[in-house]
Formats: sequence, structure tokens, C-alpha cells
Amino acid sequence: MKRFLVPLVAMALLAAPACATAPSTPMQGAPLAESWPEDPQSLTPEQWKERLSADQYRVLRDHGTEMAFTGKYWNHHDHGVYRCAGCGQPLFKSEDKFDSGTGWPSFTQPISKEAVTTKTDRTYGMTRTEVLCGRCGGHQGHVFEDGPAPTGERWCINSVSLVFEGDE
Ligand SMILES: [Zn+2]
Repeated sequence: MKRFLVPLVAMALLAAPACATAPSTPMQGAPLAESWPEDPQSLTPEQWKERLSADQYRVLRDHGTEMAFTGKYWNHHDHGVYRCAGCGQPLFKSEDKFDSGTGWPSFTQPISKEAVTTKTDRTYGMTRTEVLCGRCGGHQGHVFEDGPAPTGERWCINSVSLVFEGDE
């Protein structure tokens, strides 16, 4: 009987490390941070296509817009930071988020003026101000002058362009 116990104990010991690592809980933000591009400006459209989902590519790289009320952040109220889904740059804070009723996540201001760039967008017969990530140039949305205090600005952003990272 003793002979059979030895291999059993050995198996249990060998199996222990595997069991210990198996139920690891994914840390929000951490796995993503490792995959952010080091030099996003140098990525070709093909490389972006490999990195992004089809929806992310259509909005971030092709200046598309997600359907209102379909994104995951328009009705999202957790505390934390919204990063660019293309490159990980922090772009908006939950403190600056407000319920605009538009169906897109809306902010009164970006996390800093340097985090984003803006440019005039004259597509679809309208003159709007396009919002782009200041690091990778990914399309985020548009900014309008009809927002609430304190800035009077409404930064209307696509959920699919953002990745939320909650406070610890
Ligand atoms: Zn970016």
C-alpha cells in the first residue's frame, strides 16, 4: 500500500503549482498595458487591423461612429480613467463625465489639453470639431459647444474608442 502513496504524493506536488496559478483574476488594465504599441505612429493600417477589433478599426482608424446607445460606456458611471483603445493614452476622467442623453459617453473636458488633438471636420455637410488621440491619432469623436458647466463643452466620444480602467 505504501508503494502507491509515493506516486500519489508526487503527483499532488507536481499539480500544486498549476492549480495555484489557474484561477488568476485578470487585473483591469494590466494585460492591456502590456499590449499597447510602443510607437503607434509607425503602425501601418494592416498592423492596426491585426491589433484592433473590426469595430475599433472602423471608428479609430477610419473615423467611423458607433450607433448611439449601443456602446458600453454611454451609461457607465464607475470611477476611473478612460484610455484610448488604440494606444492606451489616458484621455478622459470619470469626474468629467456627464449624462448627455445622446447615447455616447460625454465629457466636459479631456484629462489634459495635451492628451488629445482637435481638427475641423467638414464631412457630411457639417462643420464639426473632430477629437483625436494625441498619441496615436485615433479618432475619438467630436467636441461641441453645448455642454454643461464648468467648460460649456461636450466631448462626445465613441465607447469603442475607449478602454475604461477603474480606480483601485
Ligand atoms: Zn491613442
